[in-house]
Amino acid sequence: MGEVRVLALSRRSSARPFAEYLGEILAAEGLLCVERSDRLDDLECYSAVVAYAELSEGEWEALKAYVEGGGRLVFIRPPPSRAELFGLRPLGARLSDVRPAPKYLRVDSSRLLGGLADRAVQVPSDGDLYEVVDGEVVARISLSLRGEGAYPAIVVRRVGDGLAAAYTYDLVEAVVTLRQGRRELAGVDADGSGVVKPNDMFIGLLDPRLRWVPQADVHMRTLSRLLERVLGPSKPLPRLWYFPEGSECVVVMTGDSDVMTEEDLKRLLSILSEYGAHYTLYVRAEEHGVVPSGSVGELRTRGLSLGPHTFPGFAPSPEEARRAVSEQVRRHCEAYGGGLTHRGHCTVWVGWVEMAKILEECGVKMDLSYYPYRYFQCGYLNGSGLPMRFIDERGEMVDVYEQSTHWADDVALVDKTFVDPYDLSELIEDAVRTIEESRRLYHTALTFCIHPVNMRPDVLNSAVWLRAVLSYCRSEGIPVLSADEWLEFNERRRRVRAVSYSVSSSELRLVLEAEEPVKGVAVAFPVRGSSVASVAVDGGEASYAVKELLGSEYLVVVLDISRRAAIRVGLRRLTDRRTAPH
Ligand SMILES: [Zn+2]
Repeated sequence: MGEVRVLALSRRSSARPFAEYLGEILAAEGLLCVERSDRLDDLECYSAVVAYAELSEGEWEALKAYVEGGGRLVFIRPPPSRAELFGLRPLGARLSDVRPAPKYLRVDSSRLLGGLADRAVQVPSDGDLYEVVDGEVVARISLSLRGEGAYPAIVVRRVGDGLAAAYTYDLVEAVVTLRQGRRELAGVDADGSGVVKPNDMFIGLLDPRLRWVPQADVHMRTLSRLLERVLGPSKPLPRLWYFPEGSECVVVMTGDSDVMTEEDLKRLLSILSEYGAHYTLYVRAEEHGVVPSGSVGELRTRGLSLGPHTFPGFAPSPEEARRAVSEQVRRHCEAYGGGLTHRGHCTVWVGWVEMAKILEECGVKMDLSYYPYRYFQCGYLNGSGLPMRFIDERGEMVDVYEQSTHWADDVALVDKTFVDPYDLSELIEDAVRTIEESRRLYHTALTFCIHPVNMRPDVLNSAVWLRAVLSYCRSEGIPVLSADEWLEFNERRRRVRAVSYSVSSSELRLVLEAEEPVKGVAVAFPVRGSSVASVAVDGGEASYAVKELLGSEYLVVVLDISRRAAIRVGLRRLTDRRTAPH
């Protein structure tokens, strides 16, 4: 048996201010057996290295020798002076020198991400222009959605007994920018609505044609799939799947309390119990009287959790926002015993991530204020359906998950966005289509905001929409979670780590450890090129499924971990070595 360990090397520098975020990407992708470091030591212990750092001459020599000796390297934006290792010749220019912007990444699906074949995604970061001398182009950067003017974006080259792969663009910065918006628009009312909101930071960034493509997630998945690919079928890298019980997607159901009454709360609870669905209600101070503080436990059992819905005024300074938000979160916690997820009333935002920092100080763990508004009726505003922590301008992580809201009744059904509002039947059809697409292709936590007050038949009648979505999810077996459940699952998933992982030609042995017990976490092994003979967890036979996900075949094992769990997979290799690796 041989051990499989991956080194993730990142170092912050002026050219790579968001180096820390590489770890966030790998954690969100759920990759196990990855060790993060800012040092390039003991290379011989690692099956693969992901690097995002400026290196010394000596370190480059060590990496070159490592690859020649059979090591697998994925380098994110190596300097043009080191292009030769990756089979590239610099053209002496950068991506930012080329007009027009924006640029698009197009992945060759037969080589990396099946299913996402014709989906181009934007590249809002810089890169270097090359021509390929030797090696395989896995993805290209083009100057239009249709694909004109292509430069290599991801390349893989065989070097000695190893493989050297490179991203020619800054993948990490691309994901940060797609998720958090344009730094230069922080605090700017770019859409002229009179209020600074998260959607302002995406004006002039987002290609509206791609609003239903989780672009940041696609970028991240090229990295996890590339790692699997360079490791090859003999070292299948396990990952923790994104969703509980191995579901292909989830729906996160929420709403805001704005001017709701006790009648509205009753209607909401009755719909939730009818469908067995869960929902997080964000409560303003004004509605504390409507939602009795003694009822939290009972509401929980009926599927409803509560979070603060703060409002610091329409144009607060950072100090005003800090004072108002912390006071309102404090009052919420006093009334309801806690509030770990949050959405701002009118989604007022401060700075690039200043509001996230304020929420972190208040003990909030997840924010859902990235929300549709002007010029953006619905969709993946931040290019993502996954929760990831914020990073600030200086490259420090903020311990608050950014989970975008994708569908909102007060935007989709109201004329706020300079496009015609939906009628209810179109809205139902489109929402179901996006859930179906999430399950089949994008694997996201599609998040809804449906306000109790808007559910009234004489307001927006959005209860009809809520029922249709819940009914669809129930019939398709798609979990509908509250934001709090979604947060809790992610917190626990993030605390699972691999203690050891060893592989032979006929067996995989993975030992996992969890800081806290975690239920229904799914481990996925890429197994294309093999057939699964047996799966055991802690010595007992375990059920499993082999699924087509992210354009590859994965063995998915769902398990509860109380402290430790040992998974043992028996494999039979399929003979034709050329069929792998995909
Ligand atoms: Zn509100």
